Amino acid sequence: FLTGKTALITGSTSGIGLAYAKALAEEGANIVITGFGDADEIEKERKELEKTSGAEAIYVGEDLSTTEGCEKTMEAAFDKFGTVDILIANAGMQYVAPVGEFPVEKWDKIIALNLSSAFHCSRLAIPKMKEAGWGRIIFTASAHSLTASPFKSAYVSAKHGLAGLAKTIALETATDNITCNCISPGYVWTPMVENQIPDTMKARNMSREDVINEVMLEREPTKKFTQPEDLGALALFLCRDVAQNITGSNISADGGWTAQ
Ligand code: NAD
Repeated sequence: FLTGKTALITGSTSGIGLAYAKALAEEGANIVITGFGDADEIEKERKELEKTSGAEAIYVGEDLSTTEGCEKTMEAAFDKFGTVDILIANAGMQYVAPVGEFPVEKWDKIIALNLSSAFHCSRLAIPKMKEAGWGRIIFTASAHSLTASPFKSAYVSAKHGLAGLAKTIALETATDNITCNCISPGYVWTPMVENQIPDTMKARNMSREDVINEVMLEREPTKKFTQPEDLGALALFLCRDVAQNITGSNISADGGWTAQ
C-alpha cells in the first residue's frame, strides 16, 4: 500500500531504524536509509531493501547531529524522489553518567541528534507533505519520554522533548492529512542497548547479568525485550489510512513499564 511513496528513516543502518526500513520496503515504498556503519554492510542492506520493495533505496551518510547534515540528508531525498511522504526520526544515542560528571559535549551531541535532528527533518519535510496532501511523521521516543532513570539526563531530556515536539507538530498539521506520533519502546534488543551495558555496569558497579535482569528488565513487568520487527509493524500501522485520526499520540511498547 506504500507503492509510489517515499520513506526516510534516520538512523536506519542498524537496530530499530533498519527494522522500520524493512517493514516499509515490504509495502513497496522507496526508502532513504541514513546513519553510519560498514560501507559494504550498508550497501548489502540497501540492495536487499530494493529487492524487497521492488522500488528504489538510497543511502545518505551525513552526520545528523549537525543542522547541515540534516539539511543535506533531506536535500538528497528531495533530489532523488521529489518528496518525503513518511519521515521516521529515529536516530539516537545514549550516554550514562551522573549529572555532575556529565560531559558537556555529550549533552550537546545527544540533544542535537536525539531531538534537534527530528526538528530539522520535520521542518523540511512538512512543506512537501502539505503540498502532496498526505504525510506521516513518526518519532522513536522511548519510555524515557514519559519517565526518567538516573544517569541518563541528556537522553531523558531529549526524549521528553520529542514527545512535546510530536504534539506540537500534530496540532500544526491537524487539518493537512498529516499525522505525527511517537513510538515509545522500553528495552529493545539492539546494538544500542548492548553497548550501554558496560557503562551501566561501571556506573552502578554491577555484573553484566545483573544489569540485564535488575536494571533493564526490572522495569518491564512482561520481562521481555521488544523486538525491532514489532516496532516495524507498529510504524506500518501508523502509515495506514485506518490510522488517519491517530495524531499527537505517544504509543508505548514497553511491556507495561510506564503503566506502573
Ligand atoms: P542503534 O545504535 O542500533 O541505531 C542507531 C542508529 O543511529 C544507527 O543507524 C546509527 O548509525 C545512527 N546514528 C548514530 N549517530 C548518528 C549521527 N550522528 N548521524 C546519523 N546517524 C547516526 O540504536 P537503536 O536501539 O536501534 O535505537 C534507535 C532509536 O530508538 C534511538 O532513538 C533510541 O533512543 C530509541 N530507543 C531504543 C531503545 C532500545 O532499547 N534499543 C529503547 C527506546 C528507544
